[in-house]
Amino acid sequence: LIFLLRSWLCYWILHSLELLEEPVPTSIASDVCKFLARCQSPTGGFAGGPGQAAHLAPTYAAVNALCIIGTQEAYNVIDREKLLSFLFSVKQPDGSFVMHGGGEVDVRSAYCAASVASLTNIMTPTLFQDTPTWIVSCQNWEGGLGGVPGLEAHGGYTFCGTAAMVILGKEHMLDLKTLLRWVASRQMRFEGGFQGRCNKLVDGCYSFWQAGLLPLLHRALFKEGDSTLSLQKWMFEQQALQEYILLCCQNTAGGLLDKPGKSRDFYHTCYCLSGLSVAQHFGNMDLHHELIVGQEENRLAPSHPVYNICPEKVAQAIQHFHQLSVPVPAQKEGSSEETIDTGSDIFPFC
Ligand SMILES: [Zn+2]
Repeated sequence: LIFLLRSWLCYWILHSLELLEEPVPTSIASDVCKFLARCQSPTGGFAGGPGQAAHLAPTYAAVNALCIIGTQEAYNVIDREKLLSFLFSVKQPDGSFVMHGGGEVDVRSAYCAASVASLTNIMTPTLFQDTPTWIVSCQNWEGGLGGVPGLEAHGGYTFCGTAAMVILGKEHMLDLKTLLRWVASRQMRFEGGFQGRCNKLVDGCYSFWQAGLLPLLHRALFKEGDSTLSLQKWMFEQQALQEYILLCCQNTAGGLLDKPGKSRDFYHTCYCLSGLSVAQHFGNMDLHHELIVGQEENRLAPSHPVYNICPEKVAQAIQHFHQLSVPVPAQKEGSSEETIDTGSDIFPFC
């Protein structure tokens, strides 16, 4: 399994370190760039490891990792033209995306595609044509989203679908109120952490997948002019979540975990810390409220609620890639398709 995950490990570890405000030595950052360059497929996109087939999930992880490193060397690893042709190769006629050539469709793929395309400035209108309608069809009667239409609502898929809609500027197409009720009900009243689905046990990684929805919803409802929104806190119990992560999800030797009794791993370390950061920081640069449970040294850096890397790294990547032109998709050669400028202010509420 680890061979499928090596690009992910780079992202999980680098993001954990940036949240902890622990700098990465230049030589290690450069080694990571060289490793991820070897994970890039000759036909575009990134694989879990060198020599493997490109897949949307490690593509998301690799692009995020490179944006966290944020050096010229890191940005130069990404072949944007080939990345765009990889994204077109996995796009389906109904607006959805398969995770990899010949692979499965689910809503994670739409988020991975929208995230990397918007960060690297390769979005074109046809690339995401019908994608918002397809994502909306994944929202079910519970209020959350399933992996594909008709499946049970699930925290990971709900985050991916909602964040993709925010990137595409179509979040108003979702039923935001039922989504809010669903996610708010996933915070466990005894444990303080979140469950991924109704009637499941608490799990530390949903500290991000579920609690990370609240900043997205706050902003979406704010845009709709909801005057009852708090200007100081998200719509979940931020203190209770911090207590669950700090008291129940830490391994005494370091690293974080799903729940007491489970072993630590880099995935749970990344998403417990990401959720802790969401619970500590409300708002954006202009309107920022901190709620730090425990000592000041518990404070993490804020994270961007759409991309889940630090906001200044998002701004830096967008600034860098927006100086470059959007590549013309191979199958569109000669046509004069307009491109979408996602702009530098892609998510003001972070
Ligand atoms: Zn988990």
